[in-house]
Amino acid sequence: MNLEAHLAPYAARSEISRGRRFDEPPPASRSEFQRDRDRIIHSTSFRRLEYKTQVFVNHEGDLFRTRLTHSIEVAQIARSTARNLQLNEDLVEAISLAHDLGHTPFGHAGQEALNACMKDYGGFEHNLQSLRVVDALEEHYGAFDGLNLMFETREGILKHCSLANARKLGDIGQRFIEKKQPTLEAQLANLADEIAYNNHDIDDGLRSGLLTTMQLDEIDFYARHRCEVEAVFPGISGRRAIHETIRRMINALVVDLIHESRTRIQDAQVKTVDDVRSAAGLIAFSDQMSKEAVQLKQFLRVNLYHHYQVNRMTSKARRIITELFEAFMQEPRLLPPDYQTANDMADRVHHQARKVADYIAGMTDRYAMREHRRLFVVDEI
Ligand code: MG
Repeated sequence: MNLEAHLAPYAARSEISRGRRFDEPPPASRSEFQRDRDRIIHSTSFRRLEYKTQVFVNHEGDLFRTRLTHSIEVAQIARSTARNLQLNEDLVEAISLAHDLGHTPFGHAGQEALNACMKDYGGFEHNLQSLRVVDALEEHYGAFDGLNLMFETREGILKHCSLANARKLGDIGQRFIEKKQPTLEAQLANLADEIAYNNHDIDDGLRSGLLTTMQLDEIDFYARHRCEVEAVFPGISGRRAIHETIRRMINALVVDLIHESRTRIQDAQVKTVDDVRSAAGLIAFSDQMSKEAVQLKQFLRVNLYHHYQVNRMTSKARRIITELFEAFMQEPRLLPPDYQTANDMADRVHHQARKVADYIAGMTDRYAMREHRRLFVVDEI
């Protein structure tokens, strides 16, 4: 049974895929991309997302987004948009659920700190680390390291990449060198990520009290939808008003994305995935909506991501990551045996640094805090 027969000709499909790195028999009852999605959900790194920070550190409150709930929201937005455009829902879901697997504990603060620690050893990029998780670090199969995902899933996970790294990656880095596009499904997962975090960060910002609804009225896009909600439900207030406003914002973004992308796909007359790769980016917001999204992002950067209370957490996170890295590099014997490199290995320091980065990046927030206490507090065991 062909589970992908309903898809548009320019959608990614199992039968035209560039395949897996290690050959495997085709799945009995699923498409290849359903299999990828299932492998991601059953992976260890996926479960770790539950205890990794999106913006608010996990112990700050039970209702804030974590990397896990964020990834599920991205998958929801990406899937419903994909269905509208007759794109491969299973592929967008797989990419969405895996896109943040390589994130360090403590969100962007953790990533920046680890990148600074790794500057003499090739740096640290979370996109590249997500690919490393699914290609090398997961230990679930007897025949290979990693999850052995399809090329198109791996390509979608590697959203950005420096040219220097792209050259080292072989076929998966090629598109950055040739300046080509990934599949429409990869482009879509990327924008679904943006829709999800812009909106849920407003919600979490309000919930935490770091943002106020009065401040948010500075953003035209928010103010317009709030007025609409008040017109439909006079006297509405509190959580209910916020949720009604945010759901309208998400809907407006998704509807705009579907409309603009459909127009661009038609205008570009793409017929195959190869046409998609050679065309300009086809999954996009309209110009007007792009401007609104930029305003929203700038607002969040100034008022939420750089709020002094967030800065305090960021600063602590930076200290924890940096001190862990330095302690492990000075005394690799403090690491679990799997993360220690042999003394006689060529280029040992570089290998050791990468293993330390893998170890730290794999930590959940609370594991990193506990590990830090174990190393630095005398009466902690
Ligand atoms: Mg994300």
